[in-house]
Amino acid sequence: MTELAEAPTEGRDATITRIPHWIDGARVDGTSGRSGPVYNPAVGLQSGAVDLASVEEVDAAVQSAKRALPGWRATSLAKRAELFFAIRELFHAHREDLAKFLTAEHGKVLTDAMGEVARGLEVIEFACGIPTLLKGEFSEQASTGVDVYSIRQPVGVVAGITPFNFPAMVPMWMWAPAIACGNCFVLKPSEKDPSASLLTAELLKEAGLPDGVFNVVQGDKVAVDAILEHPGIGAVSFVGSTPIARYIYESGTRHGKRVQALGGAKNHMIVLPDADVEMAADAAVSAGYGSAGERCMAVSVLVAVGDVADPLVEAIKERLPKVKVGDGMEPGSEMGPLVTREHRDKVASYIEGGAGQGARIVADGRETAPDGDGFFLGVSLLDDVTPEMDAYKDEIFGPVLSVVRAKTYDEAVSLVNDNPYGNGVALFTRDGGAARQFQFDVNAGMVGINVPIPVPVAYYSFGGWKASLFGDSHAYGPESIHFYTKGKVVTSRWPDPATSTVDLGFPQTR
Ligand code: NAD
Repeated sequence: MTELAEAPTEGRDATITRIPHWIDGARVDGTSGRSGPVYNPAVGLQSGAVDLASVEEVDAAVQSAKRALPGWRATSLAKRAELFFAIRELFHAHREDLAKFLTAEHGKVLTDAMGEVARGLEVIEFACGIPTLLKGEFSEQASTGVDVYSIRQPVGVVAGITPFNFPAMVPMWMWAPAIACGNCFVLKPSEKDPSASLLTAELLKEAGLPDGVFNVVQGDKVAVDAILEHPGIGAVSFVGSTPIARYIYESGTRHGKRVQALGGAKNHMIVLPDADVEMAADAAVSAGYGSAGERCMAVSVLVAVGDVADPLVEAIKERLPKVKVGDGMEPGSEMGPLVTREHRDKVASYIEGGAGQGARIVADGRETAPDGDGFFLGVSLLDDVTPEMDAYKDEIFGPVLSVVRAKTYDEAVSLVNDNPYGNGVALFTRDGGAARQFQFDVNAGMVGINVPIPVPVAYYSFGGWKASLFGDSHAYGPESIHFYTKGKVVTSRWPDPATSTVDLGFPQTR
């Protein structure tokens, strides 16, 4: 049995843990001489030092994956499905261990971290159906004595580059379908919260995944560029901010790779005058401040249409003092700290900046953050925000919710459609006709109707439009099966001397 990484118990240990790579089925200490700090954001102390890979270390991971590829892609669908059922059981059994790493390094509260793992598990469950998902098509007698059929084969060695905000789930979006499809995988997790990737590797080994099929290179831009330029990697999945997503797409495709790069977001929640104000206020608070707003599907703009604005802002304001901000390990905490001190300070700057540009501060999170050295910020609400303000234009990625007042439905939809991002959007209304029109009109990849964070279930695919996605494929679900495989069409005839002739004409189907 593999020795599994110990989940952090309190996350307050002053000792600094080294966080290495995982190559060829084992932890491998980095040799680049470079490392990055990992913090426990709840206490503001460094808890780990993550090795940052060199080009040679990325190559070692790719070579390990290449060696494992012939055996893994030849593994039967039945065995792959059986293995994925074992993976599912093991991850389910260790879900709290995984979640504790997320809380210790990202800061999200433990219940939220458990939710992240649960949503990732759904993608593993989807991958258990790989025999059905990889079924091809067959046309008997396409021409006389000729059959035609399509199959999908793995791309080969594929890589995933992931953001800090979902250190377990987003990698699961990638490695589960990629490996189920017969690929070998190299993961480059966020250097801010890298430990979950090592427990993931250990659990996969424990479940029986052959060495080399899943590798982890810890690192920064050096490792990312080495992945993008490596001739042995056929496809790259990326999730992160828009500027980096654009860079990954441009560089990866220039190096001949298939690339899907999911970027940032500015998700609007439109509340129509007929909506249930109490329900909309609950949803806005949950979706605006859950995970301290560090979700790509967080609601960051509330568009209040017509006379719903005053009662809605009032209903949200009433709820804010009740949001319990604290260490994510403490039972009862509802919102944890931000991931780093720099990020907390940047998010806080939008409160003052918004006021300077004419917004009204309804709640100021700088005044309600818990004491201590943790990277905390309380919940903030800005009213009378307009599209010219930085608080509206930028992806703040923190617990700052902006209210924009719109006169009409059309004005509200134009705001969403004119925004450069197009990840998620929500509409709150009691009017079925308006909801149906909204789904027709709106330019975004994921739409919620009275649902504030419409993250699709694992058997649909996840992805935005516009600057929220570079490339064609969305993540997980059916589109991931397509992304991680290449199509092949076979035209087949078995020897029949009676029909054999020399014919220099273009083949005709008769
Ligand atoms: P980020 O773009 O800073 O980092 C993502 C990954 O890119 C990390 O692995 C990081 O090491 C790497 N990276 C960072 N700078 C780089 C550079 N200059 N060159 C090459 N690689 C680099 O994103 P983040 O701060 O970790 O995550 C938050 C962002 O991710 C937000 O914008 C959020 O909206 C987005 N996100 C999007 C989705 C989605 O599905 N669309 C999901 C989760 C997060």
